[in-house]
Amino acid sequence: MTKSDMDQVEQDPEFVMLSRQFKAMAMELISVLEQKQKTGGRTKVLLETVPVHKLADIFVASFEISFEEQLSMLDSVDLKVRLLKATELVDRHLQSIRVAEKITQKVEGQLSKSQKEFLLRQQMRAIKEELGDNDDEDDDVATLERKMKAAGMPPNIWKHAQRELRRLKKMQPQQPGYNSSHVYLDLLADLPWQKASEEHELDLKAAKDHLDSDHYGLVKIKHRIIEYLAVRKLKPDARGPVLCFVGPPGVGKTSLASSIATALGRKFVRISLGGVKDEADIRGHRRTYIGSMPGRLIDGLKRVGVCNPVMLLDEIDKTGSDVRGDPASALLEVLDPEQNKTFNDHYLNVPYDLSKVIFVATANRVQPVPPPLLDRMEVIELPGYTPEEKLNIAMRHLIPRVLDQHGLNFDFLQIPEAMVKLVIQRYTREAGVRNLERNLAAIARAAAVRVAEREHAIPLSKDVQQIASPLLESRLADGADVEMEIIPMGVNNHDISQALRITSPLVVDEAMLEKVLGPPRYDDRETADRIATPGISVGLVWTAFGGEVQFVEATAMVGKGDLHLTGQLGDVIKESAQIAMTWVRARATQLKLATAEETNLLEGRDIHIHFPAGAIPKDGPSAGVTLVTALVSLFSQRKVRTDTAMTGEMTLRGSVLPVGGIKDKVLAAHQYGIKRVILPERNLKDLAEVPSAVLSSLEILLAKQMEDVLEQAFEGGCPWRQHSKL
Ligand code: ADP
Repeated sequence: MTKSDMDQVEQDPEFVMLSRQFKAMAMELISVLEQKQKTGGRTKVLLETVPVHKLADIFVASFEISFEEQLSMLDSVDLKVRLLKATELVDRHLQSIRVAEKITQKVEGQLSKSQKEFLLRQQMRAIKEELGDNDDEDDDVATLERKMKAAGMPPNIWKHAQRELRRLKKMQPQQPGYNSSHVYLDLLADLPWQKASEEHELDLKAAKDHLDSDHYGLVKIKHRIIEYLAVRKLKPDARGPVLCFVGPPGVGKTSLASSIATALGRKFVRISLGGVKDEADIRGHRRTYIGSMPGRLIDGLKRVGVCNPVMLLDEIDKTGSDVRGDPASALLEVLDPEQNKTFNDHYLNVPYDLSKVIFVATANRVQPVPPPLLDRMEVIELPGYTPEEKLNIAMRHLIPRVLDQHGLNFDFLQIPEAMVKLVIQRYTREAGVRNLERNLAAIARAAAVRVAEREHAIPLSKDVQQIASPLLESRLADGADVEMEIIPMGVNNHDISQALRITSPLVVDEAMLEKVLGPPRYDDRETADRIATPGISVGLVWTAFGGEVQFVEATAMVGKGDLHLTGQLGDVIKESAQIAMTWVRARATQLKLATAEETNLLEGRDIHIHFPAGAIPKDGPSAGVTLVTALVSLFSQRKVRTDTAMTGEMTLRGSVLPVGGIKDKVLAAHQYGIKRVILPERNLKDLAEVPSAVLSSLEILLAKQMEDVLEQAFEGGCPWRQHSKL
């Protein structure tokens, strides 16, 4: 460009604008770069001295730009165009530097925060060390490490724990995972790897006395426990069977298991399995899950703190399985002496030796327990108690304990035997003694209120005078220097309570029973009231709560010959009803339920059979004979005897088959005030278990065929019966 050209361009206002813009931009870029690299003001001088268009060329030459951009720069001959392009490039460069700076700042900010904390912590530690203040107690990890060392872990587990500890030490407490790792190591350190209760020399006689003093009756069961203990005495590491106490609630299963622990001098831990559906409840969750926990067994061992406790697996029949696995299969491993040496809890993730634990299980019923599990246990059945047994348990064990729990004793409250009997008859109808204990506790509470009130109401002045005066007088007579206020008080505290004791044993009577426990809940008239019409019979059933009396109601109505069944019935009991119906229809003429012409009993009518109470599910074949009796009563319009209850399965041909739970059923009938019980003939042998006191108050009738049952169930026998010609 010639000089004049140059001058001309420089006059151009557009060029002036552009060059000003470029300079400003370039200035900014240089300041940013200077800030970063701390170079002196050399470039700035350049900016002032060199003409703008040359400056643009210098700048562009120093940037890293693409080949195309370089070409296009060379290609631009016009000054303005070149300047514009250069401005653009400078701007781009500036922007990219800014973005990069922003990012670095952000990263630096984050880093420096944790670095700062780390630094501060290090400093704090150093300061503490300087001050001699570095108390290890404060140091969480050091405490943990010491605890772990003391836990006596087996070498392989110790190695694993060490590794985990090293990881923990590298972590900051705020870091995710620190806490879970800490909790895990805490568990490892707390678990009793070696710690065991000292097993003292087993004294069988003492164990027997202990069992006897804690439990009334249960002779056979106590005998079996003593046998079990004797074997353990002779061979301490014997892998005896796992005892499983089966019986209704409140018959003393848990307390027997705890007595075993006391007899062996071991600690006792109870693990409730009721409602456990998830395998992880037994075996723990893997640590990868948030909120993972060890299983109940490991948790129980941690709680009890020794590796050889007596562990009660309570309600083993109440475990169920669903999509989350099968707890029973995990229990199989626990109870198998071959496998439980290396029990693997998912959370713990290292094997734990369960072989030193003595397992005892309880269940209400045997049926729901999976057979493989049952196979590993020895079932000991505890049937319900008779009223006499309950009375004895109450007088010897429950009343003293209940009084003690309420801060009372026999000087304050007396519950006569007759009243306990009334409580048993009128307020509880159960196989065990739990409700009985509850009712006795209610009486004790009421008594506690009265005694406490009376203590207030005692006219102090009168009693004090009466008791204290002779003492005072004798002192005064001796001429001793007596301070009047002190002596009477000192004497009186003792004497007042003495006076209370003499004057106020509260004796429970019938009126108090009604006041505290309400009107009687059960009476003997119930059966008579309920069998007021034909079509109703009394059966005996067996539930998880022991024996029960079960009414069966049948009625007929206009219909098309259908059979309706209600009362939450299972498949087996429904089939029993079908069989009963068929049997009665097949013998309608023989039983004189229908005339010779009208042989179809269901002609123009429906039959409905109901099992109250409707809300409780029922199943099983033992209602067979009861169903037939109800139907015969309905069709013949004759009432069944109110004093008779029955149980038994019936075949299609009318044979009566034996059923289970005879002792519980007979006891239930006895409690209900029933006088006659019809049982299958082949159940005769089971009567040996029924206490003779109960048997003597009942008339037991044995039946081989359905006709035998009917013969006994109706007043004056079954007059319409024709002897079978078969
Ligand atoms: P379960 O485990 O069978 O449901 P528990 O062992 O909890 O029943 O017993 C309930 C209560 O009844 C306990 O307080 C227990 O001491 C008492 N008990 C049960 N049977 C007897 C008995 N034969 N002698 C003394 N107390 C008994």
